Amino acid sequence: MSKVEEYLARLTGFRDRDVLDATLVGALRDLLQPLCVAIYRCVGEPGAQHWMTRARMLEGDVTASADPLWTDLASLPLLHEYPERHACLLGQESRVVGGEQTLHLFPLATDREGVGVLEIHSAKPLSRRLKSQVCNILRIYRNFEGLLDYSERDNLTGLLNRQTFDASFHRTAAVALAAPVTGTDVADDSRRAGGGGRPWLGVIDIDHFKVVNDSFGHLIGDEVLLLLSRLMHSCFRYHDRLYRFGGEEFVVLLRCGGVHEAAQAFERLRHGVEGYGFPRVGRITVSIGFTEVQAGDTPTSAFERADKAVYHAKDSGRNQVVSYADLLTRGLVVDAVRASDAELF
Ligand code: GH3
Ligand code: MG
Ligand code: MG
Repeated sequence: MSKVEEYLARLTGFRDRDVLDATLVGALRDLLQPLCVAIYRCVGEPGAQHWMTRARMLEGDVTASADPLWTDLASLPLLHEYPERHACLLGQESRVVGGEQTLHLFPLATDREGVGVLEIHSAKPLSRRLKSQVCNILRIYRNFEGLLDYSERDNLTGLLNRQTFDASFHRTAAVALAAPVTGTDVADDSRRAGGGGRPWLGVIDIDHFKVVNDSFGHLIGDEVLLLLSRLMHSCFRYHDRLYRFGGEEFVVLLRCGGVHEAAQAFERLRHGVEGYGFPRVGRITVSIGFTEVQAGDTPTSAFERADKAVYHAKDSGRNQVVSYADLLTRGLVVDAVRASDAELF
């Protein structure tokens, strides 16, 4: 196998997009021996986007470094702070900037939009042959990302689909549960930037959605689902995982310091939906249930607790956020673990 073929085999050997960028950077470092190679992605709200370092290797580095996924976005540089990179992203054309070193910039994009930039610093300009090899590798990388999107995302909303929930549940919960326990809410940004926080799972169900379909038709119903997914993106953080579970049911896996912070995040969405004017349909509301993910939870056990809380929200008039822990305290539900203990003895 030639060196390039070996890199391509390595690149497409993973189904995990978190290691994809690091693999690409490692492959290009071995192939080109540059001073530095890095992938930067744009994250955040349109109009206020930041550069997140997804993978970066300097000459001599053994592994790639990256910004933690939980980094507070405000601590990352804004797009315009790196004008060459920004120009490459906007123009979607590779660029070469000369100086003491040469900086090569290559745009990264999905079928829909520019999403980031690959930067290569080298002592002298790359040959035409090497540049063309980088472009070809990037084309394969883009196609592969497209395939991952196709298998992991819901067609209508672009949110993650239910099939990917189990795998990422275990990963997200394991990382978050390994973080120090705080027990109380942590409001300060420094803590957020450090990536602290416990995992929480919320289930969101649209109220009386059948009426929307019956009154306005499925197409308008679909538009409501799409707009709701956009509201979700604006209410939660970059690293929170958003799923469409099927129909008009959505799931969020997020990390935050405590029950009040989690309740606030879900309340932000409930309030945002309530105040949003959906074209043709007007106002809709959502019922939300949430629970803290515990060590030893399976995706199903955590989901079922949050779903019970949704049930109570529906039962108590809809358009509200209900915490499972609160239901437990008020004796309105019986803890599943304790219930099974009671059956044993
Ligand atoms: P509740 O407040 O109790 O949740 O009432 P509901 O009407 O929202 O709940 P129900 O589960 O009875 O109805 C959900 C409806 O969602 C039924 C179906 O018509 C609609 N639905 C499911 N999937 C889709 C979809 O992909 N697109 C559209 N437009 N509608 C869907
Ligand atoms: Mg439903
Ligand atoms: Mg519903």
